[in-house]
Amino acid sequence: MNNNSPNLFQVNLPRVQSWLTIVAICLLLGSLGLGWLVKSALVIIGLAIITPIVGFLGFFWWLRRSIVEAECPVCSNPLQGVNGSEIQCNNCGELLKVDRGQLVRDTPPDTIDVIAVEVIKD
Ligand SMILES: [Zn+2]
Repeated sequence: MNNNSPNLFQVNLPRVQSWLTIVAICLLLGSLGLGWLVKSALVIIGLAIITPIVGFLGFFWWLRRSIVEAECPVCSNPLQGVNGSEIQCNNCGELLKVDRGQLVRDTPPDTIDVIAVEVIKD
């Protein structure tokens, strides 16, 4: 029994050693004429790594473009919302719709919205 002998099949291999093992396997497969297998595996691994990153960046790009910062048309409370969504003003409780970079009141279909254009005072 010699516990000090280097064991190549240790479970807790250092990271570099395990990477070297992967590279060695790849080289071995390549020398056996299975380079295509290594290449396709690398493509799949690459896609598996790149796809979530691209998706994540794309999502943030979309979010940055879609987030609208505007004031509530009722009480001028600053609000944030995603384009095309509906939000409720946390100050006055008015239901608002985010439409092309603007906040508009989401009034029910039968409501007539009256805007005072000119107020005449005596
Ligand atoms: Zn409001």
